[in-house]
Amino acid sequence: MVRLRTIQANIVTLSVDAIVNAANSSLLGGGGVDGAIHRAAGPELLEECRKLGGCKTGEAKLTKGYKLPARFVIHTVGPVWKGGGKGEPQLLASCYRNSLAIANKQGFKTIAFPGISTGVYGYPFELAARVAVDTAAEVVQKSSKLEEIIFCCFSPDDLAVYESLLSKS
Ligand code: ADP
Repeated sequence: MVRLRTIQANIVTLSVDAIVNAANSSLLGGGGVDGAIHRAAGPELLEECRKLGGCKTGEAKLTKGYKLPARFVIHTVGPVWKGGGKGEPQLLASCYRNSLAIANKQGFKTIAFPGISTGVYGYPFELAARVAVDTAAEVVQKSSKLEEIIFCCFSPDDLAVYESLLSKS
């Protein structure tokens, strides 16, 4: 039975098999959670990312975690919010699905997600959280070796959104 849970934390501090990075399509680093992950992992992460040739929106790629307590980083590129009618929900769901597919394939037991697209990319937090929880619940229902999926929130308000969704699911 896979557990879906939420915590308020800086994702770079988590000792899990993989943390997910809300990357941009170059995979060469950026602001927000991406910047925090690269700073905490050290320069070797960027070196490995350079070899990956970027990542399309909705897709995901795996690297090692280097100096992070997390063993691996799954980099996924969320959609930029353009009002919701440009396939944003489907693309965001793909980010979660593809990240979880990598985790499954690698046999990871624990994975932590930030709120992909909910920072600079402007996706309304509550709508994004609903996609995150629904997609994770759907994936783990089918089959999963995962034991725990953590939705990592930066603020107490964001945490409350996930707590409410998870209490209903
Ligand atoms: P995007 O470009 O996909 O919108 P951002 O990094 O701007 O990505 O923000 C994504 C989410 O990650 C936001 O909800 C933001 O509050 C959160 N966030 C930023 N830094 C961290 C961190 N160190 N740990 C956890 N969440 C973070």
